[in-house]
Amino acid sequence: MGKLTTPDWILKGGKKPVKKKEKGIFKIRKCPKCGSDKVSVVLGAEEGNGNGEWECKKCKWSGKNISMDYVSEEEFMKYLDEKGEEVA
Ligand SMILES: [Zn+2]
Repeated sequence: MGKLTTPDWILKGGKKPVKKKEKGIFKIRKCPKCGSDKVSVVLGAEEGNGNGEWECKKCKWSGKNISMDYVSEEEFMKYLDEKGEEVA
């Protein structure tokens, strides 16, 4: 004679708990002027005023209003792949 046990999630309202996996959101920074991703942060460009400045290696743009792309992990990996071929 078996004894059936009611799962805890049924006792607590009948909703089966689902482990929700957060979808990774990856940021790709791009130059707002030419759209190149060859941007890097400028460190200590000016004393006390060099925080958060970005510079484009391609068109020499610099500033704070960097352009951002939000992509999935898959797209980001693809982006890194493509980028990896260009960087020596
Ligand atoms: Zn640029």
